[in-house]
Amino acid sequence: MYYIGVDIGGTAIKAGVVDDAGRILESGRIQTVANDLDAFLSTLTGLIRGFQKSVRIGAVGIGVPGLRSSKTRTIETSPNIPCLTKVSLEAELADQLKVPVITQNDANAAAYGEFLIGAGQGTRHMVHLTVGTGLGSGFILDGKVFEGALGYAAEFGHTVVQPDGRPCTCGSRGCVETIVSATGILITAREKMIDAPSTSEAVFEAARRGDRGALEVFEETGKYLGIACSNLINLFNPDMIAIGGGVMASGGLLLAPARREARKCAFGPSFDHCAIVQSKLWPEAGVIGAAMLARDRLN
Ligand SMILES: [Zn+2]
Repeated sequence: MYYIGVDIGGTAIKAGVVDDAGRILESGRIQTVANDLDAFLSTLTGLIRGFQKSVRIGAVGIGVPGLRSSKTRTIETSPNIPCLTKVSLEAELADQLKVPVITQNDANAAAYGEFLIGAGQGTRHMVHLTVGTGLGSGFILDGKVFEGALGYAAEFGHTVVQPDGRPCTCGSRGCVETIVSATGILITAREKMIDAPSTSEAVFEAARRGDRGALEVFEETGKYLGIACSNLINLFNPDMIAIGGGVMASGGLLLAPARREARKCAFGPSFDHCAIVQSKLWPEAGVIGAAMLARDRLN
């Protein structure tokens, strides 16, 4: 049986045909229509129907950025895609596509993909972080996506690590994602570098060339990533923290200070048990995870 996994982002929607083992056989990509629900739905159904022409699809799984209610299965709010507010994507699409459709928070879907098919294979309790524009997170506890009471759990990027710190997109201040993210790296670069670059990739390039300010930026970002990991380790005693996202192209520049700081802050036996590793599936974890959630719903 084949499934379609869809990963909805603020600028692009990625989708793929995935088999039972989590392999992507065919993939596609369209631009996200953020402000017009009818246009959003017609571009998305167009993409999915294109796949349906070539293979028989059992179910569709969709990762959505925002708060998805596990009670009503509607998207309550999606800050970057306003047209999805209070929309039951499952009902709207199942009607048109004639196959079961399930939705899940995008970071939760990515965590599930990484857990089943990626770095997390063989673990039981795993945290997945995505360091990109923001800091996404998903928790797999006892082999299942942890959703909380209403489906809104795992917004770890919005836990406060600096009282009265930088303003955050969520309305609060000092959230860990204001530091550990591409956006955070740029702000830290402005604080620490004389000619701060305008992209986080350029800060990384400068660090690779040995620029002292840029190296300090990664040291500081990695330190806060480590504090974040130590909080997760003490809270959940996980087998693994897998970290993906565009910023992780910097690899050891972030992971080395992160591991050092986590070792300092977390309980020793819990730290020793927990592997802090780079994700294996990024940037496909979201598509694969959404497809695997669709597979599990059917079986
Ligand atoms: Zn926040």
